[in-house]
Amino acid sequence: MANNYRNGTSNRSSLAKTDRPLSVNSNSKPAVKSKSFPASGPRKSSPASLGSAAVAKDYAGVPGRVRVAVRLRTRNAEEMVADADFGDCVELLPELKRLKLRKNNWDAETYEFDEVLTEFASQKRVYQAVAKPVVESVLDGYNGTVMAYGQTGTGKTYTLGPLGEEDPATRGIMVRAMEDILAGVSLDTDSVTVSYLQLYMETIQDLLDPTNDNISIAEDPKTGDVSLPGATLVEIRDQHSFVELLKLGEAHRFAANTKLNTESSRSHAILMVHVKRSVEGRDVAHSGEIGNNSHMVKTLKPPIVRKAKLVVVDLAGSERIDKSGSEGHTLEEAKSINLSLSALGKCINSLAEGSAYVPVRDSKLTRLLRDSFGGTARTSLVITIGPSPRHRGETASTILFGQRAMKVENMLKLKEEFDYKSLARRLDIQLDKLIAEHERQQKAFENEIERITIEAQNQISETERNYADALEKERLKYQKDYMESIKKLEERWKINQQKQGSDRIMVRSEDDCSDGSMASIVGELTEVKKLLLKETQLRKAAEEEVNNLKIQVAQWKRSEASGNTEIFKLRQMLEDEAHQKKKLEEEIALLQSQLLQISFEADETRRRLDRGESGKIPGGLDSLTQVRQPQLKDAGNGEKASIAKLFEQVGLQKILSLLEAEDADVQIHAVKVVANLAAEESNQEKIVEAGGLTSLLMLLGSSEDETIHRVAAGAIANLAMNETNQELIMTQGGIGLLSTTAANAEDPQTLRMVAGAIANLCGNDKLQLKLRGEGGIKALLGMVRCGHPDVLAQVARGIANFAKCESRASTQGTKTGRSLLIDDGALPWIVQNSNNEASPIRRHIELALCHLAQHEVNAKDMISGGALWELVRISRDCSREDIRTLAHRTLTSSPAFQAEMRRLRIDY
Ligand code: ADP
Ligand code: MG
Repeated sequence: MANNYRNGTSNRSSLAKTDRPLSVNSNSKPAVKSKSFPASGPRKSSPASLGSAAVAKDYAGVPGRVRVAVRLRTRNAEEMVADADFGDCVELLPELKRLKLRKNNWDAETYEFDEVLTEFASQKRVYQAVAKPVVESVLDGYNGTVMAYGQTGTGKTYTLGPLGEEDPATRGIMVRAMEDILAGVSLDTDSVTVSYLQLYMETIQDLLDPTNDNISIAEDPKTGDVSLPGATLVEIRDQHSFVELLKLGEAHRFAANTKLNTESSRSHAILMVHVKRSVEGRDVAHSGEIGNNSHMVKTLKPPIVRKAKLVVVDLAGSERIDKSGSEGHTLEEAKSINLSLSALGKCINSLAEGSAYVPVRDSKLTRLLRDSFGGTARTSLVITIGPSPRHRGETASTILFGQRAMKVENMLKLKEEFDYKSLARRLDIQLDKLIAEHERQQKAFENEIERITIEAQNQISETERNYADALEKERLKYQKDYMESIKKLEERWKINQQKQGSDRIMVRSEDDCSDGSMASIVGELTEVKKLLLKETQLRKAAEEEVNNLKIQVAQWKRSEASGNTEIFKLRQMLEDEAHQKKKLEEEIALLQSQLLQISFEADETRRRLDRGESGKIPGGLDSLTQVRQPQLKDAGNGEKASIAKLFEQVGLQKILSLLEAEDADVQIHAVKVVANLAAEESNQEKIVEAGGLTSLLMLLGSSEDETIHRVAAGAIANLAMNETNQELIMTQGGIGLLSTTAANAEDPQTLRMVAGAIANLCGNDKLQLKLRGEGGIKALLGMVRCGHPDVLAQVARGIANFAKCESRASTQGTKTGRSLLIDDGALPWIVQNSNNEASPIRRHIELALCHLAQHEVNAKDMISGGALWELVRISRDCSREDIRTLAHRTLTSSPAFQAEMRRLRIDY
């Protein structure tokens, strides 16, 4: 068969070779590593092979050819009558997975499919053969597509759409897929959301919100991911609400099509199911106890989520629309109606033939399905055909479409990413816990201090009161006793006086009485003495009592003093607490900066992975080539926002201050964060203003660590894209620092960063002499020792930049004499690499050669160094026309080259 896409053979030859399995995988594309799949049946998704254990491997992608099933519809009532005299135009051989298409009564062509579904195939069997493996893949984290293609009336909608409310056996793929998805997720941690759309005349309408009738497609320029930010997204929590949603969508579709005066067979219906699942068992941060924060910092790992998308597409009828506009459409409209479907056909042809260019951008449908064909999704196509010989032409073209689709190879990739939002949420919770705990402790200490102080004061005042009371009592008692004694003495004295008066009278009359009265006086005196003695004793006892009280007061005073030391101790504990809190806060800041770093790294990794790079270390420094790319405007990207928030919280100054940290780990983290920030053009000015450039240059000189050198040099390279920064780098001795770093570096990536930085500086006209004077060109040439193509490419770029500026200066007359590049000995390397097989190296060198050759002063050295041959080769063989022309012009306008070519008899 001449047709290289067709799998069919003539009836006769296929009969003869019916045992030979027809190659379903006869793809001649050189680019695809064609893994051999089992020749029959769509591959079953096995969780064992695609599950989490195989994550690392899956990043690289698993080949997955588009699977195609063919489904035949029974004769309908009209065909029973109209075609009663004719046989079906197809014959199915399901057990051989073959289909015969009758050309006429004696000739047929045989085709092989992944699955051949007869008119008796049940809806359940169709689901299991066509869609179930895709649904299982989606649950495992891979994008998936199920699509129906075929002529109107052959059963596309019957295959995909029925809700089965009256007869559950008729349920179609959409309903059954959602049942399996809901059974496979856990709604506590996972989510399922749905959009339902119609694409008609290159306009996307929202079937869940009819007012939303012109939805645009957004493409992530970095990852190529396609999304519809304007489409209504409804979260599905049970099957019933999904069925209701489909009904609503159908009702809106009917209303919209009535309004547009068209039929649903002219439009494509697209159901998108987004499944987001969190992957458990990999999350170690939870184990970090609050008391062990440094441990927590070290083991911080964000949880992982898988976000996969199932797209189910009920395509418009594949039959050609009558272009005469007989259905009320103008020719232009008819073209537009057909556009998406014919673009899909073209894309599938290109992919099947392995051509380098696939016209994905030609239509909205192909843009929406770019991941489904030739992308990362598992795709299953069901083509529907009818039996009627009257539609043989349409049936044949449907079969050919299916055959070509079978040749499309996809590269299945796991859609897995870190869930920074939940990590940030968890950190917030931990932070709040720490703050609450701290507050509780602080409050408890304060209460304790207050209680002890009050108790001590109460004791003191009670003691003082007791003392005063006792003192007063004693005083009163003694006063009373004293007064009484005085009174008694006075009375006695009075009595004595009276006695003495009468005694004197009696003495004069009877002298003999005097002896008796003397005796009574002496007796009284003894009594008074006794009383005095008693008084003295009482006083003594009172003094003792007072002394005791004094001792007691002293004791109280002592206990008060010890109360004070207790208070002092508590104060100190409080201060320790405050200190501890400060430390915690510092650790949290560090934690946040690490989180920021991890986020950037993950982001970078994802970008690399999506670009298909296999780099192991997420250095985030590919920005050398990326930095000029426009930022993704439509962020839609929660992580970015939360990173920005964290960055705000931690603050640039804080991050820059960490560059001088003593802990090498912290320093590495900090420099990576700064490097990542420097990769965004919008941050560069802030970083330079805050002294970041100076700090980075200093790090080159002060640090011994090669990782730090590599990352710092990468950041400098990014900052060196701007002219002002280039001058700053030069005035701060940047060339010397970069040269030393290059001389000591072993890692090619370090050399690449350094070379990139110098290459950027080489492109500044004003810095030429200084750069060369400080050894910039020598440093560049020194780096070629490592031989790594990435490094060589940067060196070549630097040389090309330098040569361009020099050439400009020569033309303007500000430079005379031979090229400084030649002076510094660059020519031999240039000549040697001008035909390097790596195109980035070759391109730069070719340009450098052309610049050098434009100035006659260089011609002699170039001729003797062999550069003339290279120029001739470039002017003939270079694939870029502009460079070819430049080389040619240079050769023909240089008298020295002309003379040499004549001498060598080169016919030019
Ligand atoms: P399409 O969407 O391709 O235009 P439909 O799914 O609307 O076709 O099918 C057209 C008609 O044929 C419908 O009435 C449908 O019920 C019926 N039909 C299609 N396929 C089958 C089938 N396999 N078994 C029974 N009826 C079918
Ligand atoms: Mg239909």
